[in-house]
Amino acid sequence: MIIDAHTHIGKLPNSIYAESHEKNLGLILKEAKESGVDALIMIAGMEKEDGRNPTTQSLIDLISGHKNVYAVAGVNINYGKEYLVQLEEWIKQKKVVGVKFYTGYQHFYPNDERCLPIYGLCQKYDIPAIFHSGDTLAGYVENPKVKYSHPIHIDEVAADFPNLKLVIAHMGNPWLVDCAEVLYKNPNVYADISGMVVGDELKTAYGESMMRKIKELIDYTAPDFKLLYGTDWPLCHMKGYIEFTNNLGLGDDDLEKLFSGNALKIFKI
Ligand SMILES: [Zn+2]
Repeated sequence: MIIDAHTHIGKLPNSIYAESHEKNLGLILKEAKESGVDALIMIAGMEKEDGRNPTTQSLIDLISGHKNVYAVAGVNINYGKEYLVQLEEWIKQKKVVGVKFYTGYQHFYPNDERCLPIYGLCQKYDIPAIFHSGDTLAGYVENPKVKYSHPIHIDEVAADFPNLKLVIAHMGNPWLVDCAEVLYKNPNVYADISGMVVGDELKTAYGESMMRKIKELIDYTAPDFKLLYGTDWPLCHMKGYIEFTNNLGLGDDDLEKLFSGNALKIFKI
């Protein structure tokens, strides 16, 4: 079983994904089917009009009726009270299976007090808080700052809230060593491998060095296995990414946790 735990149907400028969320949904469902991917977790944007990503409500509406497709709510850290009420409703009704924070894009640390009410909901309903971590996507918002998206800052939240499940997206690339320590130290922290190698990069020196770094992270955190499979579709494509993942040289147990076991446990889908 394969669960892609990190996908988007936002519009990607200058590509075949620039047109509409509806069209992108059709394209991702088709690619998942052709690639043998059984379930998709789709992440909403920052709850503000960025011209690219669907809001949480529009994502929920778009995927409703599609089996094995799940939504993660996006957080705009400058949210108002009504957002918290709405978020709790979505969670209760199982319309969302996690929440995502955009620290580097919105200039706040994971221990920011505005996060606390949302962490409260995550703990109450046992759903994960996901953080965009590491490098920020060029041209997505003006002036992103990576000091906020460094994975080391997840440690403080993990230590202070041992019952809160946290996911470091992209393993905090390029700070995989720091991510490894946060994973190793904190039983409540996981990371996804999405968006590491885009397109043709799989076969380049960069792709090979990424593979080496991921293996080092896995060795450091062993015998625990804390990674989730994800692509960051449409930035990375499914068949190539499955091949990349299979080439990491993992044993059957770890591969099963990576492709589905950890996602089933964390998202309870
Ligand atoms: Zn992403």
